[in-house]
Amino acid sequence: MGVCYSRLLRSTALIAAGLATGLANPSPSQAATPAVVAGDGVLCDLTRTLSGGATDVRCLIPPGADPHHFQLTPANRRDISNSELVLINGYNLNPSLSRLDGNFELIAVGERAVPNNPNKDPHLWHSPANTGAMANVVADALQQLPINAESKQALKRRQQNVIAILKDLDTWNRQQISTIPADHRVLVSEHLAFEFFTDRYGMRHVAMIDDYATGGTLRPSSLRAISNAVKASKTKVLFPEQFPVSKTMKRISRSSGKPIAKNLVFADGTAPGKSLIETATSNTCTVVNAQGGSCNQASAERLQQRWSAVQ
Ligand SMILES: [Zn+2]
Repeated sequence: MGVCYSRLLRSTALIAAGLATGLANPSPSQAATPAVVAGDGVLCDLTRTLSGGATDVRCLIPPGADPHHFQLTPANRRDISNSELVLINGYNLNPSLSRLDGNFELIAVGERAVPNNPNKDPHLWHSPANTGAMANVVADALQQLPINAESKQALKRRQQNVIAILKDLDTWNRQQISTIPADHRVLVSEHLAFEFFTDRYGMRHVAMIDDYATGGTLRPSSLRAISNAVKASKTKVLFPEQFPVSKTMKRISRSSGKPIAKNLVFADGTAPGKSLIETATSNTCTVVNAQGGSCNQASAERLQQRWSAVQ
C-alpha cells in the first residue's frame, strides 16, 4: 500500500512538472517556430538575414525570376496559408500577391517603409536608404511574432548590423559613381526600374520601355524617339536586364549606334546565387566600369563578407 502511494505521488509530481514546463508554459525549444513568407523583390534575403533562426522563412519568388508576371504555385499557396506573417514589397511589384487573403498578417513592406513615392515605383531597394527603411519594417514585424526574449535581442542586434551595412553600401555606391566622368553618369536600362538608384546618386535614367513592369513592347513610332534620347544621353552602352538580349534592345542598339553591355543589371530582385549586397554592388560595378569609371571590387567584397557574417 505504502509503495503504491509513493508511486502515485511520484507520477502526480511528474504530471505536474509536465504541465508546468511542457504544456501550460512551454519552453522556447518546444514552442513552434513561427512561419513567415517573404514575397517579392529583395525581401527573401532581407527577411532571412534579419530573422536568423528565429523564424522559418519561406521565399516565394526565386532569385533572377521576374516578379511582375510571377504566378503563385500550389506550393506557394500552401506556404502562405501555413504562415503567420506574409511580407510583400507592395506598390504592385507582383500583382498576384496584393490579393492574398487568409489567417495571417499581410504587410506591404515597401509601402510602409517608403510612403512618399508619388509614381508608385516598386523598385525601392535600388536606394540603400529605402532598403534600410524596409529592414526596419521587417524587423518590427518579426518582433511581434511569438519568439523568446533571447531571439528578440538577437534580432535587434542583426537589425543594427544590417542598417550599418546598408549605410556603408550607400557611401560605397556614391564613391564608385563619382569615378564616372560626369557626361557618362547615365543608366540606360530596359524597363523603368532604376530611378531610385539614379536619383539618389545624381545620375540620369533612360528606360527603353517607359513602364515599371517588364515585357512592354515598343511602338515603331517610339523607336526613333528612344534612339534619339539614348544618343543624347551620352551613355557608352545599353544595359541589358536578361540574356538573351531582347529584340527591342537590339533594335535600339542598331538605331542608336550604342553597343550592349556585356554584363546584366538586375532590376527586379536579387541575382541568382547572390545576396542583395552582392546584387547591388554587382549592378553598381557593371554601370561604373562600362561608363568609364573604376569600381573598387575589394571593398565590395568586404561589404558582402560583413553581410554573410550577420547572425
Ligand atoms: Zn521591374
